[in-house]
Amino acid sequence: MTLPYAPIGKPGSSVANKTGGWRIFIPVFNAELCNGCGTCETFCPEGIVHKIEGGDTFIADYDYCKGCGICARECPKDAITMELEEK
Ligand code: SF4
Ligand code: SF4
Repeated sequence: MTLPYAPIGKPGSSVANKTGGWRIFIPVFNAELCNGCGTCETFCPEGIVHKIEGGDTFIADYDYCKGCGICARECPKDAITMELEEK
């Protein structure tokens, strides 16, 4: 059987559309605990975690963060906590 063609986006392709509204939990970054390892940036499936300009800590672009929690799960310093987002 041949499956019909369906376009599949590349990882991080949701940056084409603001997807932050899907989120229930939001990652909160604690700069005091962060060691600047960049693991959160590496593991974020949306590619929207970046180093803060002029600093060594990281932050997510909340316009596109879906709140999946992978960054918090992978952070070796427990510097990211997932908190219920107030809407
Ligand atoms: S994974 Fe954690 S410790 Fe590493 S850069 Fe990200 S927030 Fe900082
Ligand atoms: S929760 Fe973390 S890993 Fe998931 S999309 Fe947001 S920043 Fe990326």
